[in-house]
Amino acid sequence: MKLHIVNTGFFKLDGGAMFGVVPKSIWSKSNPADENNMCTWAMRCLLIEDGNRLILVDTGIGNKQSEKFFSHYYLHGNDTLDHSLQAKGFHRNDITDVFLTHLHFDHCGGAIEFDSSSQSYRPAFKNAQFWSNARHWKWATEPNQREKASFLSENIMPIKESGQLRFVERKSDQQTTSELNFGLTFVDGHTDSMMIPMIDYKGRKVCFMADLLPSVGHIPLPYVMGYDTRPLITLEEKGKFLYEAAENNYVLVLEHDSINECCSVQFTDKGIRLAEAFPLDAL
Ligand SMILES: [Zn+2]
Repeated sequence: MKLHIVNTGFFKLDGGAMFGVVPKSIWSKSNPADENNMCTWAMRCLLIEDGNRLILVDTGIGNKQSEKFFSHYYLHGNDTLDHSLQAKGFHRNDITDVFLTHLHFDHCGGAIEFDSSSQSYRPAFKNAQFWSNARHWKWATEPNQREKASFLSENIMPIKESGQLRFVERKSDQQTTSELNFGLTFVDGHTDSMMIPMIDYKGRKVCFMADLLPSVGHIPLPYVMGYDTRPLITLEEKGKFLYEAAENNYVLVLEHDSINECCSVQFTDKGIRLAEAFPLDAL
């Protein structure tokens, strides 16, 4: 098995929304905001090369939305999904599985493309099956008013219509999944039934943290995003996960950290804090 980081570029989100109740005077020291209070975030995916499977975990924001939509997110940087795959010697048509941690647009937008000849949306990975779970699918396709703007039907429905959609069965909050050769933790604080892949690799457990831990700046417990639908549940889930991570020296892959690909955490007098930040290739 081999793991690769796949960068799909940077975007900007409101710093206050990203740090919830933490005041700007504190978060802005490590995450400087621009004149609109926006901070830069990565959209970093993970590629799992496992036998004859090539599994992409999340897809970034994609490129099919309107100029007006993208104007809110200030996409920048030279990385694109295709360039990053190419740099690793792959093409999007080689992808056998697209694993979607959850269906917010910055995680699944790249799963779908607009086909100008047929003037319709279609999966951007024609040879892949797309993985979600039944509970999150229902949550995303019957969205509440608060998350509605994050669940775009053009990112979601074409997956189902293509016949390429598969569901992982949620049997417990932490489980191994026979269809995919890795463990999963299910969490409900950010959104309902988000999935955190946990992969055994080079003697470590590599966890793709999605929005449970967007960046190293979110390690202290009260640093919970304002976007989270159930912040007190996130607090509990993040606390439990980071405790396990500190105890077992997990490698945490950070989807949104603009600088750090991975980190590990440790117990300190103040609670759980950063141990080390490092690139995945350092393993
Ligand atoms: Zn999200």
